[in-house]
Amino acid sequence: MSDAALRAEALEALLTERGIVTREAIDAVVSHYEQDVGPMNGARVVARAWCDADYRARLLADGTAAIAELGFTGPTEGECIVVVPNGPRVHNVVVCTLCSCYPWPVLGLPPAWYKSPEYRARVVREPRDVLAEMGLELDPNVEIRVWDSSAEVRYLVLPERPPGTEALSEDDLAALVSRDAMIGVARAGEPAS
Ligand code: FE
Repeated sequence: MSDAALRAEALEALLTERGIVTREAIDAVVSHYEQDVGPMNGARVVARAWCDADYRARLLADGTAAIAELGFTGPTEGECIVVVPNGPRVHNVVVCTLCSCYPWPVLGLPPAWYKSPEYRARVVREPRDVLAEMGLELDPNVEIRVWDSSAEVRYLVLPERPPGTEALSEDDLAALVSRDAMIGVARAGEPAS
């Protein structure tokens, strides 16, 4: 953990122990980012990439710039976002083995499991098993690529467009893109874990 992360943990512990801030209030802020702010943004990026081949090409060439085209920027955890596309033969999944680095402008704050020592250690060693446990069974022929986020680079998974969605609008498509699909622990169109 970084010094800043340790300080934040110590502050949170003190503030809650002394009754100045409740855990519920902190959770509410986290939930706000998870549910109301973050993943909606990433879902718009993904839906645009599904509908617009030129945008998809720009997104894969320079994720940060293409994401900024939609207005999603920020000095916090968004300086360099690399977008990794899933395909029939390749499945990408994101972790931060060191702590909890995550693309805030497009996903909000990371869920608790993303920060857990178990996920961080196991998804690197046995990604296929971890994904299966989280409800994502992958064909043995599909290669799994695990991307380790850092302070410099954050990753966003571009999920495959679900079959049978050719007639859907960009807005309807965005509704199919969950946070978990953009971390790579679910497919688009599946419920979040
Ligand atoms: Fe980290």
